[in-house]
Amino acid sequence: MDLKKIVRPCIYSLEPYSCARNEFKGDASVFLDANENPMNYPYNRYPDPLQIEVKKKISAIKGPDVSQIMLGNGSDEVIDLVYRIFCEPGKDNVIAIEPTYGMYKVCADINNVKYIPILLNDDFSLDSSRILDAVNGYTKVIWLCSPNNPSGNDLEKKEVENILDNFEGIVVIDEAYIDFALRDSWISALKKYDNLIVLQTFSKAWAMASIRCGMAFSSLEIIEFFNKVKYPYNVNFLTQKFVSKSLDDSNKKEEWVRMLIEQRSFMIEELKKIPLVNKIYPTAANFFLVDVGNATDVYNYLCENKIIVRNRNKVTKCYGCLRITVGTREENITLLDALKKLK
Ligand SMILES: *Cc1c(COP(=O)(O)O)cnc(C)c1O
Repeated sequence: MDLKKIVRPCIYSLEPYSCARNEFKGDASVFLDANENPMNYPYNRYPDPLQIEVKKKISAIKGPDVSQIMLGNGSDEVIDLVYRIFCEPGKDNVIAIEPTYGMYKVCADINNVKYIPILLNDDFSLDSSRILDAVNGYTKVIWLCSPNNPSGNDLEKKEVENILDNFEGIVVIDEAYIDFALRDSWISALKKYDNLIVLQTFSKAWAMASIRCGMAFSSLEIIEFFNKVKYPYNVNFLTQKFVSKSLDDSNKKEEWVRMLIEQRSFMIEELKKIPLVNKIYPTAANFFLVDVGNATDVYNYLCENKIIVRNRNKVTKCYGCLRITVGTREENITLLDALKKLK
């Protein structure tokens, strides 16, 4: 893949902002370079723009080199950056599976980039040839989400590989739910594919949605473009500290994942017994899609009982469906009891 043909010309030639903390490299004790207030340490100092301490720990857990990692203010920032780096507004387009995570389309609209949704099969599996058929000379990015939101299923490896092998542009695989999927991450394919970007997040399995930190893994060359385009201090000091501390105890995350996977099986078994439930779609995530017939009625009833699920009734191929997140055992039982009472 020739990045010069894929990256927007204005980004390819961009001279990035050089912040004070980037220009000075070395050891110093007197910092009079950044117009900071000398009081109130450590909050007075600008944070590390490249979050090296955090990335070293991520690198140790996930494999890729520090230079192949980008951290964002949530994955949502990374998604927006993909458009700003690769897609010329009013000219280029992207392809995405349908249904999928809503932010890919919202960011396309914000950036005035044409968004081409390509239907998944009825069982939400991926037909790579249908995606590849939709590619034209202006297609810069293909968005894949695996496990997919809102359907919950993992996309088939062979189909994803077919896209990686045959598309001469960027393939993003959003793995927000990878920890629940019991398979290896696509990160291991970065060695083979120089057009791949893998997204992960601290918002789901790591249970840190509020602190806003998302990850992108890719080639060094692609990550350099992310570093040029992002706001210099996009991940604040408190977030960096908190993520860094949490990475020292990844056992906790694994324990949570085990608990949620167990609860997921419990929920599926129990929901099968409820007559209202027509179908539970297979899931590799911490949520599942359930066909309950009149989803809006069920949704409203649950709201009245102070239980909030996601109504996906209006989403393509999800008519009649609710998307239910796996909670604590107590929360799950509350939901099941409410559904059992609904006549
Ligand atoms: C929840 C989710 C994310 C996470 O976004 P953050 O901005 O990191 O919180 C990303 N992608 C998908 C598909 C999601 O469902």
